[in-house]
Amino acid sequence: MAFAFDHPVLHCIPPPLEQIEFVTVRLPFITPFGISAHVWTCKEALLLRVTSGGFTVWSECVADPDPYYLSETTTTAAHIIRDFLLPVIKDGMTMAEILAEFRKVKGNAMAKATVENALLVLRAEADGVPLHALLGQKPARIMSGISIGIKETVDDLLAAVQEAVDKKYHRVKMKIKRGKDVAWVRAVRERFPDIQLMVDANCDFTLDDRPMLRELDAFGLTMIEQPLSYADIYQHSLVQKELKTPICLDESILSLDDAATALALGSCRIINIKEGRVGGLIESMRIAALCQQQGVPVWSGGMDETGIGRAVNIHLQTVPGFTLPGDTSETSRYFKEDIADPPVVLDREGFISIPPGPGLGIHIDPDRLNRYLVSRKTIR
Ligand SMILES: [Mg+2]
Repeated sequence: MAFAFDHPVLHCIPPPLEQIEFVTVRLPFITPFGISAHVWTCKEALLLRVTSGGFTVWSECVADPDPYYLSETTTTAAHIIRDFLLPVIKDGMTMAEILAEFRKVKGNAMAKATVENALLVLRAEADGVPLHALLGQKPARIMSGISIGIKETVDDLLAAVQEAVDKKYHRVKMKIKRGKDVAWVRAVRERFPDIQLMVDANCDFTLDDRPMLRELDAFGLTMIEQPLSYADIYQHSLVQKELKTPICLDESILSLDDAATALALGSCRIINIKEGRVGGLIESMRIAALCQQQGVPVWSGGMDETGIGRAVNIHLQTVPGFTLPGDTSETSRYFKEDIADPPVVLDREGFISIPPGPGLGIHIDPDRLNRYLVSRKTIR
Protein backbone atom coordinates (compact mmCIF):
# COMPACT_ATOMS: atom_id res chain seq x y z
CA MET A 1 0.00 0.00 0.00
CA ALA A 2 1.29 3.48 -0.84
CA PHE A 3 2.36 5.69 2.04
CA ALA A 4 -0.48 8.13 2.81
CA PHE A 5 0.44 11.75 3.41
CA ASP A 6 -2.03 14.58 3.68
CA HIS A 7 -1.10 18.05 4.85
CA PRO A 8 -2.80 21.47 4.70
CA VAL A 9 0.02 22.81 2.50
CA LEU A 10 -1.21 20.50 -0.29
CA HIS A 11 -4.54 22.33 -0.30
CA CYS A 12 -3.19 25.88 -0.43
CA ILE A 13 -3.57 27.85 -3.64
CA PRO A 14 -0.53 29.83 -4.77
CA PRO A 15 -1.17 33.40 -5.94
CA PRO A 16 -1.29 33.90 -9.74
CA LEU A 17 2.16 34.25 -11.27
CA GLU A 18 2.74 37.55 -13.05
CA GLN A 19 6.29 38.29 -14.16
CA ILE A 20 8.83 35.46 -14.20
CA GLU A 21 12.55 35.88 -14.79
CA PHE A 22 15.58 33.58 -14.96
CA VAL A 23 18.55 35.17 -13.21
CA THR A 24 21.95 33.46 -13.23
CA VAL A 25 24.60 34.47 -10.71
CA ARG A 26 28.15 33.26 -10.15
CA LEU A 27 29.67 33.66 -6.68
CA PRO A 28 33.32 32.72 -6.15
CA PHE A 29 33.99 30.29 -3.28
CA ILE A 30 36.49 31.41 -0.67
CA THR A 31 38.06 27.94 -0.94
CA PRO A 32 37.48 25.50 -3.81
CA PHE A 33 35.06 22.71 -2.87
CA GLY A 34 36.11 19.21 -3.92
CA ILE A 35 34.21 15.93 -3.88
CA SER A 36 35.30 12.58 -5.29
CA ALA A 37 34.19 13.51 -8.83
CA HIS A 38 34.89 17.21 -9.21
CA VAL A 39 36.19 20.46 -7.73
CA TRP A 40 34.09 23.63 -7.87
CA THR A 41 35.66 27.07 -7.52
CA CYS A 42 32.39 29.00 -7.59
CA LYS A 43 28.65 28.61 -7.16
CA GLU A 44 26.82 29.26 -10.38
CA ALA A 45 23.13 29.35 -9.54
CA LEU A 46 19.99 29.59 -11.61
CA LEU A 47 17.45 31.74 -9.78
CA LEU A 48 13.79 32.23 -10.47
CA ARG A 49 12.41 35.68 -9.73
CA VAL A 50 8.64 35.77 -9.60
CA THR A 51 6.28 38.67 -8.96
CA SER A 52 2.63 38.52 -7.98
CA GLY A 53 0.28 41.08 -6.47
CA GLY A 54 3.07 43.43 -5.41
CA PHE A 55 5.27 40.65 -3.98
CA THR A 56 8.58 39.54 -5.42
CA VAL A 57 10.05 36.19 -4.43
CA TRP A 58 13.24 34.37 -5.32
CA SER A 59 13.80 30.68 -5.70
CA GLU A 60 17.12 28.92 -6.25
CA CYS A 61 17.63 25.86 -8.42
CA VAL A 62 20.19 23.69 -6.63
CA ALA A 63 21.57 22.17 -9.85
CA ASP A 64 25.13 22.98 -10.83
CA PRO A 65 26.02 24.04 -14.38
CA ASP A 66 27.64 20.59 -14.74
CA PRO A 67 26.43 16.99 -14.12
CA TYR A 68 29.13 15.96 -11.60
CA TYR A 69 26.86 15.65 -8.55
CA LEU A 70 23.75 14.35 -10.32
CA SER A 71 22.46 14.49 -13.88
CA GLU A 72 20.46 17.74 -13.84
CA THR A 73 22.22 20.96 -14.78
CA THR A 74 21.15 24.60 -14.67
CA THR A 75 20.57 24.39 -18.44
CA THR A 76 18.36 21.30 -18.29
CA ALA A 77 16.48 22.78 -15.34
CA ALA A 78 15.80 26.04 -17.18
CA HIS A 79 14.47 24.07 -20.16
CA ILE A 80 12.16 21.92 -18.01
CA ILE A 81 10.94 24.89 -15.93
CA ARG A 82 10.20 27.08 -18.95
CA ASP A 83 8.83 24.48 -21.35
CA PHE A 84 7.11 21.90 -19.12
CA LEU A 85 6.47 23.10 -15.57
CA LEU A 86 5.39 26.75 -15.77
CA PRO A 87 2.97 26.11 -18.67
CA VAL A 88 0.85 23.63 -16.66
CA ILE A 89 0.23 25.99 -13.73
CA LYS A 90 -3.19 27.62 -14.01
CA ASP A 91 -4.57 30.28 -11.65
CA GLY A 92 -6.63 28.77 -8.83
CA MET A 93 -4.97 25.34 -8.80
CA THR A 94 -4.06 23.88 -5.41
CA MET A 95 -0.51 22.70 -4.71
CA ALA A 96 -1.79 19.10 -4.87
CA GLU A 97 -3.18 19.74 -8.37
CA ILE A 98 0.02 21.44 -9.51
CA LEU A 99 2.20 18.61 -8.17
CA ALA A 100 -0.06 16.06 -9.92
CA GLU A 101 0.72 17.86 -13.20
CA PHE A 102 4.43 17.97 -12.32
CA ARG A 103 4.39 14.18 -11.76
CA LYS A 104 3.71 13.72 -15.48
CA VAL A 105 7.21 15.12 -16.06
CA LYS A 106 9.59 12.30 -15.23
CA GLY A 107 12.60 13.05 -13.05
CA ASN A 108 13.98 16.61 -13.14
CA ALA A 109 13.48 16.95 -9.39
CA MET A 110 15.66 20.06 -9.06
CA ALA A 111 13.65 21.88 -11.72
CA LYS A 112 10.40 20.92 -9.99
CA ALA A 113 11.69 22.04 -6.59
CA THR A 114 12.66 25.43 -8.00
CA VAL A 115 9.10 26.14 -9.11
CA GLU A 116 7.49 24.59 -6.03
CA ASN A 117 9.68 26.72 -3.74
CA ALA A 118 8.66 29.89 -5.59
CA LEU A 119 4.96 29.01 -5.30
CA LEU A 120 5.16 28.21 -1.58
CA VAL A 121 7.24 31.26 -0.73
CA LEU A 122 4.81 33.43 -2.69
CA ARG A 123 1.88 31.93 -0.74
CA ALA A 124 3.70 32.52 2.55
CA GLU A 125 4.59 36.12 1.59
CA ALA A 126 1.00 36.87 0.58
CA ASP A 127 -0.25 35.38 3.86
CA GLY A 128 2.38 37.34 5.82
CA VAL A 129 3.74 34.16 7.45
CA PRO A 130 7.19 32.57 7.49
CA LEU A 131 7.70 29.61 5.15
CA HIS A 132 7.97 27.13 8.04
CA ALA A 133 4.56 28.28 9.34
CA LEU A 134 3.03 27.56 5.92
CA LEU A 135 4.53 24.08 6.32
CA GLY A 136 2.70 23.85 9.66
CA GLN A 137 5.83 24.14 11.81
CA LYS A 138 6.91 26.22 14.78
CA PRO A 139 10.15 28.23 14.88
CA ALA A 140 13.16 26.37 16.23
CA ARG A 141 16.89 26.77 16.74
CA ILE A 142 18.53 24.94 13.84
CA MET A 143 21.59 22.74 14.33
CA SER A 144 24.63 23.46 12.20
CA GLY A 145 26.93 21.16 10.30
CA ILE A 146 29.88 21.64 8.03
CA SER A 147 30.95 19.70 4.96
CA ILE A 148 34.70 19.77 4.39
CA GLY A 149 35.76 19.07 0.82
CA ILE A 150 38.66 16.87 -0.27
CA LYS A 151 41.92 18.56 0.69
CA GLU A 152 45.39 18.38 -0.82
CA THR A 153 47.04 17.23 2.40
CA VAL A 154 46.03 15.71 5.75
CA ASP A 155 47.37 18.84 7.46
CA ASP A 156 44.99 21.01 5.39
CA LEU A 157 42.13 18.72 6.45
CA LEU A 158 43.07 18.83 10.14
CA ALA A 159 43.25 22.64 9.98
CA ALA A 160 39.79 22.81 8.42
CA VAL A 161 38.34 20.48 11.07
CA GLN A 162 39.97 22.56 13.82
CA GLU A 163 38.35 25.69 12.41
CA ALA A 164 34.94 23.97 12.38
CA VAL A 165 35.37 22.73 15.95
CA ASP A 166 36.35 26.24 17.09
CA LYS A 167 33.18 27.60 15.47
CA LYS A 168 31.10 25.05 17.47
CA TYR A 169 29.64 23.25 14.46
CA HIS A 170 27.51 20.40 15.78
CA ARG A 171 28.95 17.87 13.38
CA VAL A 172 31.79 17.65 10.92
CA LYS A 173 31.48 15.87 7.60
CA MET A 174 34.62 15.10 5.64
CA LYS A 175 34.51 14.14 2.00
CA ILE A 176 36.45 10.99 1.15
CA LYS A 177 37.45 9.33 -2.10
CA ARG A 178 39.53 6.41 -3.29
CA GLY A 179 43.01 6.83 -1.78
CA LYS A 180 41.91 9.54 0.63
CA ASP A 181 39.87 7.29 2.89
CA VAL A 182 40.84 5.22 5.95
CA ALA A 183 44.17 6.91 6.71
CA TRP A 184 42.59 10.37 6.42
CA VAL A 185 39.69 9.43 8.69
CA ARG A 186 42.10 7.93 11.22
CA ALA A 187 44.14 11.15 11.26
CA VAL A 188 41.05 13.24 11.99
CA ARG A 189 39.72 10.81 14.60
CA GLU A 190 43.05 10.65 16.46
CA ARG A 191 43.21 14.45 16.67
CA PHE A 192 39.48 14.90 17.44
CA PRO A 193 38.34 11.83 19.40
CA ASP A 194 35.03 13.31 20.61
CA ILE A 195 33.49 15.20 17.72
CA GLN A 196 30.42 14.03 15.81
CA LEU A 197 32.22 12.95 12.63
CA MET A 198 30.87 11.48 9.40
CA VAL A 199 32.23 10.81 5.93
CA ASP A 200 30.74 11.29 2.46
CA ALA A 201 32.11 9.33 -0.51
CA ASN A 202 29.78 10.81 -3.16
CA CYS A 203 29.48 7.42 -4.92
CA ASP A 204 33.23 6.75 -5.27
CA PHE A 205 33.31 3.10 -4.12
CA THR A 206 31.99 -0.27 -5.28
CA LEU A 207 31.13 -3.60 -3.67
CA ASP A 208 34.81 -4.54 -4.05
CA ASP A 209 35.67 -1.85 -1.51
CA ARG A 210 33.80 -3.61 1.31
CA PRO A 211 37.02 -4.45 3.23
CA MET A 212 37.95 -0.73 3.30
CA LEU A 213 34.41 0.27 4.30
CA ARG A 214 34.51 -2.27 7.16
CA GLU A 215 37.72 -0.63 8.40
CA LEU A 216 35.78 2.63 8.81
CA ASP A 217 33.73 0.91 11.53
CA ALA A 218 36.67 1.49 13.90
CA PHE A 219 36.24 5.27 14.01
CA GLY A 220 32.82 5.77 15.65
CA LEU A 221 31.44 7.66 12.65
CA THR A 222 27.87 8.93 12.84
CA MET A 223 27.37 7.63 9.31
CA ILE A 224 28.99 6.81 5.98
CA GLU A 225 27.20 8.79 3.30
CA GLN A 226 26.62 7.42 -0.21
CA PRO A 227 29.55 4.99 -0.53
CA LEU A 228 28.29 3.35 -3.77
CA SER A 229 26.73 4.47 -7.05
CA TYR A 230 24.05 7.13 -7.30
CA ALA A 231 22.10 4.64 -9.40
CA ASP A 232 22.11 1.91 -6.74
CA ILE A 233 19.95 1.09 -3.75
CA TYR A 234 20.23 -2.72 -3.56
CA GLN A 235 24.03 -3.04 -3.30
CA HIS A 236 24.01 -0.56 -0.44
CA SER A 237 21.84 -3.07 1.47
CA LEU A 238 24.58 -5.68 1.11
CA VAL A 239 27.18 -3.28 2.47
CA GLN A 240 24.92 -2.05 5.29
CA LYS A 241 24.52 -5.65 6.52
CA GLU A 242 28.29 -5.88 6.99
CA LEU A 243 28.73 -2.54 8.77
CA LYS A 244 28.07 -1.37 12.31
CA THR A 245 28.17 2.24 11.11
CA PRO A 246 24.89 3.46 9.59
CA ILE A 247 24.89 4.14 5.87
CA CYS A 248 23.17 7.37 4.86
CA LEU A 249 21.86 7.65 1.31
CA ASP A 250 22.02 10.94 -0.57
CA GLU A 251 22.36 10.72 -4.38
CA SER A 252 20.30 7.48 -4.53
CA ILE A 253 17.17 9.08 -3.05
CA LEU A 254 15.31 11.16 -5.62
CA SER A 255 11.77 10.60 -4.33
CA LEU A 256 9.56 9.08 -1.65
CA ASP A 257 9.53 5.86 -3.69
CA ASP A 258 13.33 5.63 -3.55
CA ALA A 259 13.24 6.23 0.20
CA ALA A 260 10.61 3.51 0.67
CA THR A 261 12.73 1.08 -1.39
CA ALA A 262 15.87 1.88 0.59
CA LEU A 263 14.11 1.39 3.92
CA ALA A 264 12.44 -1.84 2.80
CA LEU A 265 15.78 -3.28 1.64
CA GLY A 266 17.70 -2.05 4.69
CA SER A 267 20.05 -0.09 2.43
CA CYS A 268 20.57 2.69 4.95
CA ARG A 269 19.71 3.69 8.51
CA ILE A 270 19.73 7.44 7.86
CA ILE A 271 18.55 9.55 4.92
CA ASN A 272 19.93 12.87 3.75
CA ILE A 273 17.02 14.92 2.39
CA LYS A 274 18.07 17.60 -0.06
CA GLU A 275 14.83 19.29 -0.91
CA GLY A 276 16.03 20.14 -4.41
CA ARG A 277 17.22 16.59 -5.11
CA VAL A 278 13.85 15.07 -4.13
CA GLY A 279 11.68 17.59 -5.99
CA GLY A 280 10.75 20.08 -3.33
CA LEU A 281 9.64 20.81 0.21
CA ILE A 282 6.44 18.78 0.07
CA GLU A 283 8.21 15.62 -1.15
CA SER A 284 10.80 16.26 1.59
CA MET A 285 8.03 16.33 4.19
CA ARG A 286 6.59 13.08 2.84
CA ILE A 287 10.00 11.37 3.05
CA ALA A 288 10.57 12.75 6.55
CA ALA A 289 7.14 11.44 7.64
CA LEU A 290 7.85 7.96 6.21
CA CYS A 291 11.26 7.87 7.89
CA GLN A 292 9.81 9.05 11.18
CA GLN A 293 7.20 6.29 11.05
CA GLN A 294 10.05 3.79 10.67
CA GLY A 295 12.35 5.38 13.26
CA VAL A 296 14.92 6.50 10.68
CA PRO A 297 16.46 9.93 11.31
CA VAL A 298 16.83 12.43 8.47
CA TRP A 299 18.83 15.60 7.98
CA SER A 300 18.99 18.42 5.48
CA GLY A 301 21.82 18.21 3.00
CA GLY A 302 23.31 21.25 1.33
CA MET A 303 24.20 22.06 -2.26
CA ASP A 304 26.51 25.00 -1.47
CA GLU A 305 23.51 27.24 -2.05
CA THR A 306 23.39 31.01 -2.04
CA GLY A 307 21.44 32.59 0.82
CA ILE A 308 18.18 31.79 -0.98
CA GLY A 309 18.56 28.02 -1.00
CA ARG A 310 20.25 28.12 2.39
CA ALA A 311 17.16 29.83 3.86
CA VAL A 312 14.89 27.14 2.38
CA ASN A 313 17.00 24.46 4.09
CA ILE A 314 16.76 26.31 7.38
CA HIS A 315 12.96 26.48 7.26
CA LEU A 316 12.76 22.81 6.21
CA GLN A 317 14.64 21.71 9.31
CA THR A 318 11.70 22.68 11.55
CA VAL A 319 9.84 19.63 10.14
CA PRO A 320 9.59 16.64 12.56
CA GLY A 321 12.14 13.92 11.85
CA PHE A 322 15.06 16.26 11.09
CA THR A 323 16.85 15.18 14.25
CA LEU A 324 20.45 15.21 13.00
CA PRO A 325 22.55 18.27 12.17
CA GLY A 326 22.49 19.05 8.44
CA ASP A 327 24.94 20.65 6.01
CA THR A 328 23.82 24.15 7.00
CA SER A 329 26.92 26.28 7.52
CA GLU A 330 27.66 29.95 7.93
CA THR A 331 27.52 32.00 4.73
CA SER A 332 31.11 33.15 5.37
CA ARG A 333 32.32 29.56 5.14
CA TYR A 334 31.57 29.73 1.38
CA PHE A 335 31.38 33.32 0.21
CA LYS A 336 33.09 36.66 0.89
CA GLU A 337 29.63 38.12 0.47
CA ASP A 338 26.28 36.67 -0.52
CA ILE A 339 23.47 38.14 -2.60
CA ALA A 340 20.97 37.64 0.27
CA ASP A 341 20.65 39.23 3.71
CA PRO A 342 20.85 38.39 6.52
CA PRO A 343 23.86 36.07 6.23
CA VAL A 344 23.68 32.76 8.10
CA VAL A 345 25.76 32.93 11.29
CA LEU A 346 26.22 30.51 14.17
CA ASP A 347 25.52 31.55 17.73
CA ARG A 348 27.95 30.74 20.53
CA GLU A 349 26.49 27.25 20.85
CA GLY A 350 26.66 26.60 17.12
CA PHE A 351 22.94 27.06 16.42
CA ILE A 352 21.35 28.99 13.54
CA SER A 353 18.27 31.21 13.87
CA ILE A 354 15.53 31.25 11.30
CA PRO A 355 15.59 34.59 9.45
CA PRO A 356 12.57 36.54 10.75
CA GLY A 357 9.69 37.78 8.61
CA PRO A 358 7.29 36.44 6.02
CA GLY A 359 8.35 33.95 3.35
CA LEU A 360 12.04 33.04 3.52
CA GLY A 361 12.78 36.04 5.75
CA ILE A 362 15.57 37.22 3.47
CA HIS A 363 15.98 39.97 0.94
CA ILE A 364 18.25 40.30 -2.08
CA ASP A 365 20.80 43.09 -2.15
CA PRO A 366 20.54 44.68 -5.65
CA ASP A 367 24.18 45.87 -5.76
CA ARG A 368 25.56 42.46 -4.85
CA LEU A 369 23.15 40.79 -7.27
CA ASN A 370 24.53 43.01 -10.06
CA ARG A 371 28.09 42.35 -9.03
CA TYR A 372 27.67 38.57 -9.42
CA LEU A 373 25.15 38.64 -12.26
CA VAL A 374 25.82 36.43 -15.29
CA SER A 375 22.53 36.80 -17.15
CA ARG A 376 18.94 37.86 -16.72
CA LYS A 377 16.02 36.93 -18.93
CA THR A 378 12.29 37.58 -18.63
CA ILE A 379 10.40 34.45 -19.59
CA ARG A 380 6.91 35.69 -18.91
MG1 LIG B 1 26.35 13.85 0.09
